[in-house]
Amino acid sequence: MMTMESKTAMDLIQLEDKYGAHNYHPLPVVLSRGEGVHVWDVDGKKYYDFLSAYSAVNQGHCHPRIIGAMIEQAKTLTLTSRAFYNDTLGEYEKYVTNYFGFDKVLPMNTGAEAVETAIKLCRKWAYEKRGIAENQAKIVVCENNFHGRTTTIVSFSNDPDAQKNFGPFTPGFIRIPYNDTEALEEAMKQENVVGFLVEPIQGEAGVYVPDTDYLMKCRAICTKYNALFIADEVQTGIARTGSLLAVCGNCSCEKKCEKQATYAQPDILILGKALSGGVYPVSAVLANDEIMMVIKPGQHGSTFGGNPIAAKVAMAALDVVDEEQLALNARQLGDLFRSEMNRIISTTDLVLKVRGKGLLNAIIVNDTEDSLTAWNLCVALKDNGLLAKPTHGNIIRFAPPLVMTKEELLECVAIIEKTITEFKK
Ligand SMILES: *Cc1c(COP(=O)(O)O)cnc(C)c1O
Repeated sequence: MMTMESKTAMDLIQLEDKYGAHNYHPLPVVLSRGEGVHVWDVDGKKYYDFLSAYSAVNQGHCHPRIIGAMIEQAKTLTLTSRAFYNDTLGEYEKYVTNYFGFDKVLPMNTGAEAVETAIKLCRKWAYEKRGIAENQAKIVVCENNFHGRTTTIVSFSNDPDAQKNFGPFTPGFIRIPYNDTEALEEAMKQENVVGFLVEPIQGEAGVYVPDTDYLMKCRAICTKYNALFIADEVQTGIARTGSLLAVCGNCSCEKKCEKQATYAQPDILILGKALSGGVYPVSAVLANDEIMMVIKPGQHGSTFGGNPIAAKVAMAALDVVDEEQLALNARQLGDLFRSEMNRIISTTDLVLKVRGKGLLNAIIVNDTEDSLTAWNLCVALKDNGLLAKPTHGNIIRFAPPLVMTKEELLECVAIIEKTITEFKK
């Protein structure tokens, strides 16, 4: 039955459709409020958010501490640009470098900008510290990578949608298979290879978790060939995978853990998304002095990068991760989630497998990649009160906010189980 309320939702969808570029294909739900692990649509229906804005809202929707920090700073000083000093940036820089264990930070806004920054930093380091001939530097990347949407970043994508008719592309990248250290070693033997840019778990590609020792081996290979190990933790970082960073391996402490035997320490660390708890665009590139100091005044920047609101928001967002032990929670709930999914999978033909780490998981739907089954399953999940989205055809990513309780997670498992049981292709 068509109610007044659902007409409003439809109006809002039509508004976006008519006036917005069609660069996304959203699930047909119109949200108007969020709190913790929940969001509500314009008709007042409540949902579990099982995507967290692609792992930006790890701290839960509208976390009072983060929102409080933002409001207070918004009333005081919002933007000075970097033409002048201000009284929040230095405090934030000290906080964030100490938190992650690097000498310096370069603040940006979006994930893609931070990736761009890392690429520029790596190249400049190569020319000025390694003596590579100008314009010859090459950076190794992986097949099925996702690092953002700028012209240079899509230049080394192999997703036809990301690339087609967006050329000409930026040269200087070598693509190798993911989770293949032999391919990395071979690539490193080529001339002028200066870095390896990698997602510790490939999120967009469908939550591909590499072998346990993959990142440690990559770290070692980069060291051997004097190339920079660049970790894009925009999606995997900030407690998502059950440790502060996915490169931390098995450690679930909330702070930097370079003393851990499983810590594959990056030379350049890229953060975004949950660095602000999803309330503001905040990204960062972290590195030690030997690398970061190659960038001199005027050589790189951003008007909004490191602005006072971003600085306060990021500190509050990281305080929450630490105080609420989100890494530990993600680890424990992630183990529970996968074991519950495996129990469900053993009773159905609809889902083939679950994979993931911490609370970054995906299920593989038993159908072809171009089928609508995963999409239809997400629509059915939505009808039952849980929001998730397919990534690459038949894969559904599950990434709830990390502030979820065990009881709430089990309620979500029950929704998923009911939806799968009742689903008809
Ligand atoms: C989302 C994402 C980006 C891009 O971040 P934007 O803020 O959308 O520009 C880069 N790398 C990874 C791994 C991501 O998941």
